[in-house]
Amino acid sequence: MVYDVFISPFVENVLQIWYHYFPVKLSRKHSYILNKHHYYTQLSDSNKKRFNYRLLTFMKSRNFIKKDARVSDDMKVLISAAAVQLTLGLDKYKLKSFRRIIIYEDSFDSSTPDRKHIGEVKKRRGEIALSWKHFLEGYAIVDDGKNVGLHELAHALEHQTFIDGMDEVFHDYYPDWKKLAYHKMLLIRRRRNKFLRNYGGTNLNEMFAVCIESFFERPHDFAESLPLLYEVLTCMIKQDPRNPQDPIIYVEPKIDPRYH
Ligand SMILES: [Zn+2]
Repeated sequence: MVYDVFISPFVENVLQIWYHYFPVKLSRKHSYILNKHHYYTQLSDSNKKRFNYRLLTFMKSRNFIKKDARVSDDMKVLISAAAVQLTLGLDKYKLKSFRRIIIYEDSFDSSTPDRKHIGEVKKRRGEIALSWKHFLEGYAIVDDGKNVGLHELAHALEHQTFIDGMDEVFHDYYPDWKKLAYHKMLLIRRRRNKFLRNYGGTNLNEMFAVCIESFFERPHDFAESLPLLYEVLTCMIKQDPRNPQDPIIYVEPKIDPRYH
């Protein structure tokens, strides 16, 4: 039995401890699907328990909609798994403003005329739209720094944090990230970019989403190329994906005085 998103933080904490000792059991079908998820397969057993609980909570409290076709279990599980991957280190992780996940078979028409999208976050409507084909492609190559699922969920996370002060640590480190990201954005615009996709130069929202893609898919290269930006992201997301078995950072991060 898993619960809806509208439970108090206290109850949520108690449930998380409870389910650490008495873990939720995934169905065989869900376990089979999750074993295709690269990030999940590398986690320690203890982190898998946390992941499973959060996966079921996220999945059950979402409305998955696919135009003209049935939503498959693969879609529900793998999209929810991407959300749990992104927020596994955070205390508040449910992205509760985004209750609807709209799935398209391929790229789709968007609000921008003459432009096809492969992913879109509609904040006012509380929707995340994804092309399933491109979502799968994002996970098919796990180290190219391109992942539309994580990209769109990063937009949702960034938005959520500013509407309800989602996670204090995330919120506290955001100004530090912004300073470094702005500098990087200017380098991209001056064509002096050496790491991260150039699309990050569009604006700070896109920079955050692009950072998240490489943060999870190329953590070692990221930390080597842009060590300060990487370190601040580990503080915000409370994860260090260079430790795939145990990525969560539990201790309160200490900000380096260089950032102030
Ligand atoms: Zn974007």
